[in-house]
Amino acid sequence: MLNIGCKVNQAELEELGLDLVRAGIELVRDPIKADLCVLNTCTVTAESDRKCRKAVKSLVSRGARLVVAGCFAQRFMEDIERLPGVKAVITNAEKESWAKRVMELLLPSLKEEPSTVPEKGEIARFRARGFLKVQEGCDRHCSYCIVPLVRGGERSLDPREVLQRAEELLQQGVEELVICGTNLGRYSWKGMDLGALVGEILALGGSFRVRLSSVEPEDLKEEWVLGWRNLGRVCPHLHLPLQSGSARLLRDMGRGYGPAEFLGLWERVSGTWPGCVLTTEVIVGYPGENDQDFAETVKVLKSTRPVKLHVFRYSPRQGTRAALRADQVDPSVKARRSRQLIELGRELRCKYMHDRVGGRCRMVVEEVCKGIAGLEARGTTEDYLKGRIILDREADHQRLVGRTVEGIIVGVEGEEVLVKTVSCMEAEGGS
Ligand code: SF4
Repeated sequence: MLNIGCKVNQAELEELGLDLVRAGIELVRDPIKADLCVLNTCTVTAESDRKCRKAVKSLVSRGARLVVAGCFAQRFMEDIERLPGVKAVITNAEKESWAKRVMELLLPSLKEEPSTVPEKGEIARFRARGFLKVQEGCDRHCSYCIVPLVRGGERSLDPREVLQRAEELLQQGVEELVICGTNLGRYSWKGMDLGALVGEILALGGSFRVRLSSVEPEDLKEEWVLGWRNLGRVCPHLHLPLQSGSARLLRDMGRGYGPAEFLGLWERVSGTWPGCVLTTEVIVGYPGENDQDFAETVKVLKSTRPVKLHVFRYSPRQGTRAALRADQVDPSVKARRSRQLIELGRELRCKYMHDRVGGRCRMVVEEVCKGIAGLEARGTTEDYLKGRIILDREADHQRLVGRTVEGIIVGVEGEEVLVKTVSCMEAEGGS
C-alpha cells in the first residue's frame, strides 16, 4: 500500500490496511512482491499529478499488479484504466467499500484461505503513529482548490465509528493518533464539535497521545485550545494554513480571514498554550501575486515563526475560479519565491531546533534501525520534530518501537534533534 497526498488519504489507507489484516491478509512492504499493490493518489497541485503519474508508470513497468485509488485516479480514471498492469481504479466515493473490492481482486491469487485475526502489533510494525479520519469533504470552495470537486461536500463521521476505529488502532499498538479531516475544524455530529470529540477519544484511556492535523484558522475555537492544553495528552502543535499574508489575495481566495486575524489568532493561541508550535502552508504565485503581496507573506511568517512550512507553487486546477484568471504569475517568479520561502522555512525550523536543546521532549519511536553510530531509534516529538536516540547495544531495542520515550534534547544534527533517554513509558495494553 502506497500513499501520495494528505493525512486524510493516509488515514483511509490505514483503515484499508486494518480491514485487510483483520480479514487475514498479510501486508508487505515491497509493492512488486505483493499480490496486489494499492496506490492512493492526490491531485491537489500539478506537482501532485506529476508524482502520481510517475508512480503509476514506475510501478507498472516494474511489474506491480496495481489498484489506483483516490483524487488523481478519480480525475483521470479513463487514462489510468487503460494502462496495462492496472487492475482497477477506485474513486473516493467507492472507498467506503474498498476493502471488499480489494479482497475480490486478491482472491484469485490467494494460495490459501486468509488466515485469522491479526497478531497484536501487526499494523504497528508499519506505523507507530496512526491516522484517524473523523471528517471529509469541504464546502468552502476556495478559489484555487480542487478538493471540493474530488472529495465532495463536508461529512462528519459518527463518533461511535470514530471511537471504534481509534480503539482498533490503539489495540494494534499505535501510540500517537493523528486526528484528521479535509476540513477538520468543521467536525460536527448532533451538537458534538471537534473539541468534544477529542475529549471523547482521550477518554478511551491508555497512554497514547493525540495530534490534530490541519484546522482552518477561522474554525479554531479558543475554548478548544484551552481544553487541549489542559488535557495534557494533546500534542502542543497546530497546523493552521496561512496560504498568503496578503489581505488582497486572501480576500480573492475566499479564505475568510486576513493577515491581521491570523496574527491575532496565533498570538492568542501562544498566550493560552505556552510551548504550542505552529506549522503552516503557503501558496506562492497565486494569480496576481506581486512583490508587495509576497513581502506581506514573508512578514506574517517571520512574525509567527512556524516550525515547519509547506510551500506550494500555485498551479491552475481546471474547474476552479482562479484557473480562469488572466494574470497568472510567470513560472520563474514562482520558482524564485518558492526557493526563498523554503529557505526561510528551513531557517525558522533550524532556529527552533537549536532553541530546544537542553529541553525535555516525549518522542514516539517509529523505527529502530542501524545508523552510522550503531543502533538508532527514530521518531517524532510532541512538538513535531524528528528525533533520534543512539541506543545502548544491550537494550531490548525492538521493544521501543511504538513506545513513548521521555528524553532531553542534547543536540541537532541535520534535520533531526538528538535525544538522550530519561525513561521509556510503558504503553498500557502494550506487549
Ligand atoms: S478549505 Fe479551501 S483550501 Fe481547504 S480543502 Fe476546502 S476549499 Fe480547499
